This record gives sequence, structure tokens and C-alpha cells, in this order.
Amino acid sequence: MLPNLIDLLNLNKNELRDFVASLNEPAYRVAQIERWTYGRELVTDFDAMTDLSRDLRARLNESARIGAPRAIAETNSADGLTRKALLQLDDGQTIEAVLMLYPDTPDQVFDRAPRDARRTVCVSTQVGCPIGCPFCATGQAGYRRNLTPGEIVAQVLHFARELKPAPLTNVVIMGMGEPFMKFDVTWQAIESLTDPARFGMGARRITVSTSGEIPGIERLAREQAQINLAVSLHAPDDALRDALVPLNRKYPLRDLMRAARAYVEQTRRRVTFEYALMDRVNDKPEQARALAQMLRGGGAPPPLLCHINLIPLNPTSASPYRRSPDARVSAFEKILRDANIPTTLRVEKGIEIAAGCGQLRQAAVKSRTTDKEEK
Ligand code: SAH
Ligand code: SF4
Repeated sequence: MLPNLIDLLNLNKNELRDFVASLNEPAYRVAQIERWTYGRELVTDFDAMTDLSRDLRARLNESARIGAPRAIAETNSADGLTRKALLQLDDGQTIEAVLMLYPDTPDQVFDRAPRDARRTVCVSTQVGCPIGCPFCATGQAGYRRNLTPGEIVAQVLHFARELKPAPLTNVVIMGMGEPFMKFDVTWQAIESLTDPARFGMGARRITVSTSGEIPGIERLAREQAQINLAVSLHAPDDALRDALVPLNRKYPLRDLMRAARAYVEQTRRRVTFEYALMDRVNDKPEQARALAQMLRGGGAPPPLLCHINLIPLNPTSASPYRRSPDARVSAFEKILRDANIPTTLRVEKGIEIAAGCGQLRQAAVKSRTTDKEEK
């Protein structure tokens, strides 16, 4: 593949219009190309775009491509409902994307409407992550680079192709990386996913998770786009959160809570807080009470419109943190519920496997090294 071919997935609407115009083609070609690329067909080959002239297809082949990273490793959960793919980008870097199937889940946290099957993809936004949370495989791996909008969208299209004709129902931007470090990139990907002429997914079916990048929360609020917001909290006080989520040193809890409140006021949407339970680190009863107190706003202002997602830690090989035992998890959960904080405990499948994003990459790097050693 020639490196100077334009990846059409990287072009927003205006850029695609300009590109088509630069080929001296009429504007309706934009809709045709978008339909083939993001619609039911999900093609990666211009020759399959049969309503384009032969001459145009030839010129597209000379100047452009549709990015489709190759899966170089895959793991499936024992029940077959979760599949992680390690995708290789053009420059050889690798990222993880995860498909999660929920056959007939009646009530999901991020989208409570459907009683039918959910098919969710979890995508990465960066190769590695500069935030460096010590319990996270991605954070441990260090940071290489940001993804392009096309590389984010390509992860969704990868699984959409595998599932076709069944449609994907949800996207969670919760894989490797901090999605709000480059808000514009993440936002352009979201626009391609929600544009009815492109992938056409409802904004309410998309969730973006941040470690607390306040400017991103503020921008998402301003967009008024019905996208779900999740914030990774993991600690009820600054001293602990400074250690677990180092971005807290820049954006401490008081400011983060203020931003979350402003978000709820501006959007009227509930914020989800993620809290990974780590044995004797952040799972003590007094920490549950402090968390409840913080989310209730100390009693004076109205309680924050929120939801807590408790995730027993997925331990990684390189960190000292352990998963909380069941009894400590239950006790923590009960304190939150008794304080009237809507709380969900994540079971051993689905999103928390995605939450361990970075772990397949860690494992794949290891096993590839082992393979080589064995040869
Ligand atoms: N960087 C963003 C989004 C990706 S991480 C963020 O931090 O929010 C998605 C979620 O998985 C975050 O809540 C993160 O804290 C959590 N996570 C990371 N490693 C985990 C692990 N080993 N076990 C459980 N949750 C983990
Ligand atoms: Fe980055 Fe999120 Fe992992 Fe922290 S938890 S290192 S922010 S990917």
C-alpha cells in the first residue's frame, strides 16, 4: 500500500466534498462513496463501488484508500460473547478493539431502552496512554502517539464488517488512551459515526470515558450532542487519586466535580463514574462513605445526577494492585446504595474485559516474543 494514498476515513464531510471536487466529480459522488464505505456494504475496495464509473474507480485507486487495520491477534472469551482484536496500523503500531455481545440484556447502564440484543464495540483513541494510571495495562505500556479520526472509526468498521448483516448497536470509547487529550480527533470520529449519511449510529448509543480531562468535559457539554459521558474516578480523595489517576494532579477532584455538575446542568444528562475496586487501596467502608458524600455534594447542593459503575479490578501482571474480594465489593456497593447513589456492579464479562484494554496487547507482545524465542 502506498503511504501517500489519502485514507478517506480521515476526511470529514467538507474535506470529502473538496476531495471529490478535486477529482472534477459532481457533489452527489460524496453520498455514493459514503454509502459504500460506512453503509451496509462497508467496502474497503473502490472496485466494489459499482455505481461509480470505471474511470472514477481507477482514479480513486490511484489517490485514495479506505483504512482497514489488520487483526494480528484475537482472543475470544470462553462464552464466545467477547472478542478482542489486536489491530495493526499502517506504521506497525498496534491497538486493541473489543466486541461485546449481550444476547438479551434487559437493562444496561449506558442505554436503558432496548430489550433486544446489544452488540457493542470498544475502541482505542491512542497507542498507549500518557496518563499512566499504575493499575492499567495501557498506562504501564507508555505512550506512542494519538490515533487519527479514521483509525478510530476503522475499529468500529472492522467489527461491523464481521457482524454484518447484524448491525452494531453501541460504541464505547473506552479502549487504550485518553479520548479528550485530542478532543477534535475524537469528536471528528464521533461525527462520522453519528452522521446519518455515514455510519448513522444514534448519539445516545455512544459513550466516551475520560480520566478527568476537564476541558474535554466542557467541550462535550457545549456540543449538546446526547453522547454519554463516563468519568474514571477510582478514588474519593485527592491524595489517593493523585496516585491512581495522575491526571488528578492537574485537575483535582473539586474541579472535576464542578465540571461534572456543570455538564449535568448544561446537558440534563446523567454522568457515569467508573470505580475500579482494588483490594485495601480504594475499597474501604470509609472510602465508600466519602465517595457517597462527594457525589451527594455534601448535602447542601442537590445530589449530582450520576451513576456509579463498580468494576472489580482486572489485575495486570506489572502492577501490585489486586482485585477486591467479593465481600469487600458487596460491602462497598451496599454503602453506596444505602446512600441512594445508583450503583451497578460489573459482572465478570463485557465492559470490564474491555476495561482491561491494553492487556491483550501486553499479552500479544509477550507471546510474540516467546514465539520468536522458541523458533
Ligand atoms: N482513558 C480513559 C478511557 C479508557 S480506560 C479513562 O481512563 O477513562 C477505560 C476504563 O477502564 C477506565 O475507567 C479505566 O480506569 C479502567 N481500567 C483500566 N485498567 C483497568 C483494570 N486493570 N481493571 C479495571 N478497570 C481498568
Ligand atoms: Fe490511560 Fe485510561 Fe489507562 Fe489511565 S486508565 S492509563 S487514562 S487508558
